[in-house]
Amino acid sequence: MYDTEAAVIGAKTISVPDLPGFKRDWDGIAKAVEKYQPKLTVLCNPNNPTGELAPLSEIERIVSLSKNPVLIDEAYMEFAQAESAISLIKKYPNVMVIRTLSKAFGLAGMRCGYMVADSDMIDAVSKVKSPYNLNIFTQAFGAIALKHRDEIFKVRDGIIAERDRFLAELSSVNGIRVYPSSTNFFLMDAGTYAPALFEALRKADILVKKYKSPEMAPFFRITVTTKDVDERILSVIREVIPNA
Ligand SMILES: *Cc1c(COP(=O)(O)O)cnc(C)c1O
Repeated sequence: MYDTEAAVIGAKTISVPDLPGFKRDWDGIAKAVEKYQPKLTVLCNPNNPTGELAPLSEIERIVSLSKNPVLIDEAYMEFAQAESAISLIKKYPNVMVIRTLSKAFGLAGMRCGYMVADSDMIDAVSKVKSPYNLNIFTQAFGAIALKHRDEIFKVRDGIIAERDRFLAELSSVNGIRVYPSSTNFFLMDAGTYAPALFEALRKADILVKKYKSPEMAPFFRITVTTKDVDERILSVIREVIPNA
């Protein structure tokens, strides 16, 4: 979406491709930031759709090299249980951290998110943001959700445990490859079985995310919910891939 939004406003984008295995190329990102000093650098952590969590030291390195704002999208951070870039704001006022209630809070569709930044940064953003705020129902419900965070995060804790259990189980299945994840989804390489597997999952009422680009054709992003659903996914995999 960042690419799309940038295209809409006519901004030029510079992307730094991942290294093999969906590891982010921190040296490449650092070089690009130093060379181009982009007006805005966007880092997603943990990353979507790879699930990779970056060490805070790498985020800090990019932030320290940039003369301009760096936006860190932590939509999935509650699933990583790692230190947030919010801790960098005091030292680096160019840091903007955004969060959402759409993921770990289970409130997708409520459309409630927030930014944490230095007060000067917030003033600057306020100058250009639309004066029409979140609707009052979303604001009221968002405040309630944040207050009941501990209760809501019991569900999140179950998802984290199920993610780790399911990934461990899938890693011993022949014909597919799964990547470690610090989020509530993971990336799966189904190789040449991808089209057949996508269709079989769809017939079983399970929708997974696939990608348009040819190099991502063998990959799916699968969201973890409950063990029951994961067992259904596994049985479809075993139907489609011989000797899985
Ligand atoms: C879901 C998501 C968001 C934002 O979610 P909203 O529903 O718009 O609050 C932002 N960034 C990433 C990477 C996401 O996956």
